[in-house]
Amino acid sequence: MGDQHSTVSVEETAAKIQAAAAVTVLCHVHPDADTMGSALALAIALHRAGTPVQVSFPEPHELPRSLELLPRRDLVVPPAALPDAAELLVVVDCSSADRLAGLSGQIAASDTTLVIDHHRTNTFFGDLHYVDADAQSTTVLITRVLDALGVEIDADIATCLYAGLVTDTGGLRWANPESLLLAARLLGTGINGAELLRGLMDTHPFAWLPMLGAVLGRAELEPAAACGLGLVHTVVLHTDVAGVAWEEIESVVDIVRTSAEAEVAVVLKEQGEQRWTVSMRSKGLINVAEVALKLGGGGHAAAAGYSATGTRDDVLAALRSVLG
Ligand code: AMP
Ligand code: MN
Ligand code: MN
Repeated sequence: MGDQHSTVSVEETAAKIQAAAAVTVLCHVHPDADTMGSALALAIALHRAGTPVQVSFPEPHELPRSLELLPRRDLVVPPAALPDAAELLVVVDCSSADRLAGLSGQIAASDTTLVIDHHRTNTFFGDLHYVDADAQSTTVLITRVLDALGVEIDADIATCLYAGLVTDTGGLRWANPESLLLAARLLGTGINGAELLRGLMDTHPFAWLPMLGAVLGRAELEPAAACGLGLVHTVVLHTDVAGVAWEEIESVVDIVRTSAEAEVAVVLKEQGEQRWTVSMRSKGLINVAEVALKLGGGGHAAAAGYSATGTRDDVLAALRSVLG
């Protein structure tokens, strides 16, 4: 187990990757465009340099439909196809070991685990850590590593980097200067940013609409909650999502959070009998990463999450008590 003292610079990160004879890259459970874009961008560069490399993510080993837009998915293998122990394990966009679910055993088995991440709640669970919470996506950090390695950013790599960048900045809505400069650089390779963004963020099966209707119809506003700043919440039940893939419910919170009367938006997603995953968003006055940490999860100041058990009312009561 590492700690904050095992923080490495981008140059040390690049040197470690360059020295490895073989690399395994792991994404977090229920992969999004940032974790998969980061992993594939790095893997494409390594593969091109002749280094054996594989990308994987924990069960359920189903890639979201939207991520089929990413190139070189032949570099992604199911967990069972991974070597038992990697010389260098690179874990991308994961704040803690539990985000690797069934693959967390790979950490102890590998010679060295290098964590590349941008979550402020990172627990420094590897041996070496290149963590920068000011970066808006892990693909920003991967770009810095590729630059340190002298890798040419071609259209395939740019597609992967752009995918993570645009999704983690809400379609560049809250992009900072570094992110916008990177976006411009990546678009300069000739990739079709508009098409990629539409496929990643603005495309859903028709069944998404009735699901959304049911879920938004039971949204509730609690003006006194969250220290009087307001809380809006809803639940996504198992029965709502028949015929809709798990990734289609991830965007529900982006609609719920538009409520003017609430600083904090929360979506409870039913995973099984009294088992939930919880998505939280804030507008900047409340740090939901701190709230999530107290409830066993993690994330960013304005976007965080955790897992919970109990009835809907139990989960909301526990949340209210932390939110104040
Ligand atoms: P989501 O609401 O699932 O989009 O997650 C928002 C943010 O919270 C992401 O950056 C996730 O990495 C983080 N997050 C969500 N669930 C968890 C969890 N169980 N543990 C740690 N971080 C989480
Ligand atoms: Mn992610
Ligand atoms: Mn991310």
